[in-house]
Amino acid sequence: MTTEHLDEQLCRQCRGRCCDGHPGVWSDPERFFAIFNNGEIPAADELARILEDWQLTLRDVGGILIPAPRETEQGCAARDENGCIYDIDIRPGQCLALIPKLDTLLDDLIHCHLPPESGSGSARNNWRPFQPLLKEVQGG
Ligand code: SF4
Ligand code: SF4
Repeated sequence: MTTEHLDEQLCRQCRGRCCDGHPGVWSDPERFFAIFNNGEIPAADELARILEDWQLTLRDVGGILIPAPRETEQGCAARDENGCIYDIDIRPGQCLALIPKLDTLLDDLIHCHLPPESGSGSARNNWRPFQPLLKEVQGG
């Protein structure tokens, strides 16, 4: 997982406008399974338990289910007064890939953007093969 664009100082000042508006997803299944299940693809009941234990959800991104932090009306639920509750080594890949821009602090619009390889299209492609498993979990 690349963290080359991380700018913790800028993001601390910003206090996570992206987390309010566009919470990220774990865009890479291999990394998700490495973080949460020792690199193994879990069975549906195991994945349901992982989602519950970590307070995660399956987000529908253009018709493809992808593991993501839960959301509230205030934005991403994985944020407390100190910022993101996930350490960098387990944080959603999209959150790490976002390229921060100083302009975001200046005019209060989000100028930060995802490189194409970490965008929603790539995340959907990555998770497409796992849809039977994720749909089974969602169906309960
Ligand atoms: S990535 Fe952009 S919007 Fe998100 S916290 Fe950093 S500066 Fe703010
Ligand atoms: S997981 Fe963390 S960095 Fe990503 S949107 Fe939620 S609070 Fe922000």
